[in-house]
Amino acid sequence: MARYTGPVCRMCRTEQRKLMLKGDRCKSDKCAISKKRAAPGKDPKGRMAKRSDYAIQLREKQKLKRIYGMLEKQFKLFFERAQRMPGITGENLFLLLERRLDNVVYRLRFASSRSEARQIVLHGHILVNGKCINIPSYLIKTEDSIEVKDTSKNFALVKDALKEYGKSGVMPWLQLDPDALKGKVLAFPRRSDITDLSDVKEQMIVEYYSK
Ligand code: SF4
Repeated sequence: MARYTGPVCRMCRTEQRKLMLKGDRCKSDKCAISKKRAAPGKDPKGRMAKRSDYAIQLREKQKLKRIYGMLEKQFKLFFERAQRMPGITGENLFLLLERRLDNVVYRLRFASSRSEARQIVLHGHILVNGKCINIPSYLIKTEDSIEVKDTSKNFALVKDALKEYGKSGVMPWLQLDPDALKGKVLAFPRRSDITDLSDVKEQMIVEYYSK
């Protein structure tokens, strides 16, 4: 499976936003954004060029794509699928992205970042409705149960990530039994449920692909 292999924090510096790609490090003082490191290529004297509408739309698209750890081809396929669904395309796009298995594993606190969640899924540590699914882009449905395989339940990585559950719980559309490491999808998320991405302007992404 193709994936981005370049410097990860550079992507956050480009977007001038925490994309939360490195788990615990993102919440620490070591984070490049917490240290207020400038965007790559930024004018050293701080002069800001006026950005075109296209440049703003491109940045919104890149930001969301990078948050979910996707490459252009797959992200565009998700967008095209969102366009074919009834309703508002931008909201449909969020719904599809949130339904990805790697995202749900991250949201259930089995991993501290989406990239870690992707690895856990790829290595066959996750069961969906009792069956091993190793496809990160697999789309979960309501009522699905998602659990860590019995033989993987003692993974330090999973136990470390689960500490976040004690602090913040899980999103309202999910339910977790932290002892059994088993979660359930109660409903599909609404756009308003995705509060950590409320700054993303999905309409800009729709405009970007409409050109
Ligand atoms: Fe982004 Fe995390 Fe790196 Fe901070 S530590 S710049 S949030 S990937």
